[in-house]
Amino acid sequence: MIDYQAILDEIYQRLQQRVDKGEVASYIPELAQVAPEKFGIYLNRIKGDDFYVGDWDEPFSIQSISKVLSFAKAFSLQKNQVFKRLDVEPSGNPFNHLSLLELENGIPRNPFINSGAIVIADMLISLLDNPKEDFLQFVRDISNDQTIQFNKKVAASEAETGYNNYAAANLLKSFGNLKNDVDEVLDFYFHQCSIEMNCKQLTKAFYPFANRGKCMQGKPHLTLNQVKRVNAIMLTCGFYDEAGEFAFEVGLPGKSGVGGGIVALLPGEFTIACWSPGLNEKGNSYLGMHALELFTTKTNLSIF
Ligand code: GLU
Repeated sequence: MIDYQAILDEIYQRLQQRVDKGEVASYIPELAQVAPEKFGIYLNRIKGDDFYVGDWDEPFSIQSISKVLSFAKAFSLQKNQVFKRLDVEPSGNPFNHLSLLELENGIPRNPFINSGAIVIADMLISLLDNPKEDFLQFVRDISNDQTIQFNKKVAASEAETGYNNYAAANLLKSFGNLKNDVDEVLDFYFHQCSIEMNCKQLTKAFYPFANRGKCMQGKPHLTLNQVKRVNAIMLTCGFYDEAGEFAFEVGLPGKSGVGGGIVALLPGEFTIACWSPGLNEKGNSYLGMHALELFTTKTNLSIF
């Protein structure tokens, strides 16, 4: 029997004491306001009790973690059509890298780098009646939590300083890989990134990816085949140019965001979310990466 609470407590105590907790993202000014010492972990087990520690119930900006949910929505609506407009290869580059996009004629490497998520945002705008509202409703439904919201201040803050994303969207538009207006697509994208969740809500949002497509209430949201593919892209592309390191150290499919959140899962076993806003130089939560490495090492639970 694994003593999950003792393991989470030990990880928390050990990492909390670290003086170096990484740097809070400041290129989105509103994110720079978050207290760097926040740290929480929530473990949601498919066939057992949950365990948690620290600031697990405090909401934070999920940022790029939303890219998995927007991709899942577009994939469930468009099936393999989505792969006409983007690829599924790791980029080996930072999340906001542009030169590869130019070199590869406006086809983003994968849906989890910014340019890929912007193409997905464009698809959802074409597919949904009320894109932002309908997407938020999808996130609420898959998480079985109707309280989940956008943070309008964070969305506005990113719109003011999102020069790199404007560049990516304009480049995509010039290659004919954006059907809608650049401003409309980025407004959707900035809103999806501004969604706030706490660690517990994040584990619920990702539950279907660990539970054969069904949410905690047993309702099917994705097919098994879709779950397989989304998890594969999380494993290979979920951590920007640190995806190899995450697979090597942690050994789980997962996704990070510059708000300091990381969510990861072991199919059939659990989803786990960590939050610590300080980032390492690759833009992933500094303590979150270490926490998950310690968790899979101490429990011997990983996909490998
Ligand atoms: N909204 C952020 C951006 O586009 C997301 C980046 C991230 O979380 O990796 O820069």
